[in-house]
Amino acid sequence: PAPLDSHGPARIIALCNQKGGVGKTTTSINLAASLAEYGRRVLAVDFDPQGALSAGLGITVHDVPTVYDLLLDTKRDPREAIVQSSTPNLDVLPANIDLSAAEVHLVNEVARETILARVLRHVAGEYDVILIDCQPSLGLLTVNALTAAHGVLIPLECEFFALRGVALLIETIDKVRDRLNPSIKLDGLLATMYDPRTLHSREVLERVVEAFGDDVLETVIGRTVKFPDASVSGVPITEFAPEHAAAQAYLRLARELVARGAVA
Ligand code: ADP
Ligand code: MG
Repeated sequence: PAPLDSHGPARIIALCNQKGGVGKTTTSINLAASLAEYGRRVLAVDFDPQGALSAGLGITVHDVPTVYDLLLDTKRDPREAIVQSSTPNLDVLPANIDLSAAEVHLVNEVARETILARVLRHVAGEYDVILIDCQPSLGLLTVNALTAAHGVLIPLECEFFALRGVALLIETIDKVRDRLNPSIKLDGLLATMYDPRTLHSREVLERVVEAFGDDVLETVIGRTVKFPDASVSGVPITEFAPEHAAAQAYLRLARELVARGAVA
């Protein structure tokens, strides 16, 4: 993709699927790193109390402000919590287990669904893209992410039951569009953990394309142990194994999203 002459305001993309283990965090990390490699200024927001995105980018979150502190005080400057990753152009807004208390704290807030949107407003001008790594639930935190977002990317594991729950997720997105965020778009469904050697991986992918047509991204992420290995090392796959097909797949995803207009 062509380099950018100027930066911001960010397009905000939520990575969402209430099913765990489908590749939300892996995609957030590696798409963020790929876009950063193409010169986009990227902020990756860890919005899961498990803190896997923070850990996967080598960030330890101990005795420092996190996204949770920003949710509790939306006037606070997010830059107090944002940290630079070791990847150029890639910043992280980290999370830790504190975030698990957020739903309880926010439930009685005025405009409780728009709190993350107000946090991100302070820094949107400094980035080209903000990726929000959602937790595996459709609760208030995820609704906050969908309310803050311009687009949603849905990772789907190429396994039996991949489509189970997607209807409910789409319903939730429709409700958010109707009530809170009229312009939110489905940026695409991303097939992950694809194993071309198994018949059922191919069948699942076929069924997903049957059900969602052009909303299914052309890029497919293959299954490989390089991903868990890279996470343990705390770096994106594009740095851990830049020549590996898995790194190339995420770079391709970044180019596809630019080509589709989902990212500048
Ligand atoms: P989620 O955030 O949706 O829960 P993760 O991205 O954390 O999912 O992925 C779940 C597990 O699967 C992690 O251990 C991750 O390293 C691994 N994983 C993710 N993508 C792949 C892949 N394409 N091939 C093999 N393992 C993967
Ligand atoms: Mg995750």
